[in-house]
Amino acid sequence: MTAALAGLADQARELALDLPEENRERARILSQIPGKSEQQLQMLIRGLRARKNSGAGVREGIYVYEGRHVYRVHRDPAGGMQAQWLGGNGWVDRPGAVASLEENRVRRAPLEDVIAFGFRDGRCGCCGERLDTVESMSAGIDPGCARRWFGVTPGRLRTVALRELGA
Ligand SMILES: [Zn+2]
Repeated sequence: MTAALAGLADQARELALDLPEENRERARILSQIPGKSEQQLQMLIRGLRARKNSGAGVREGIYVYEGRHVYRVHRDPAGGMQAQWLGGNGWVDRPGAVASLEENRVRRAPLEDVIAFGFRDGRCGCCGERLDTVESMSAGIDPGCARRWFGVTPGRLRTVALRELGA
């Protein structure tokens, strides 16, 4: 193995190790690195770098697409950004969505949008749980989630929720 090839293999391995452990491709990529040519390694490195950078500008938070589809983005234990989509049965991992979020096809939702979603869907747009307490039903969002994701106090939350209800 040439020094150049060994150097590329090291770079690729380092980038692959950055992938979250739950990424199904991680082990496969790592196992294939030793057999790759210089050109293949260069392509792999480019792809891994692009993946690493995608989502780099995305902040943790709740995102709403077309006022209906709710995504939440949080930092995974490996330091990457993970996106989840709120489906009918709860949260579904959508790792690829982070890149779309970065392209601004989905916008970071203001609290009002998440509350509007809650009033329409009956679920908290942050955790996906049914709104089943007096406080959460009258706010359109779980008050604990409102504090965690939007930093709002119960008092401020009431004000925003009332405005959203047109009261
Ligand atoms: Zn919630």
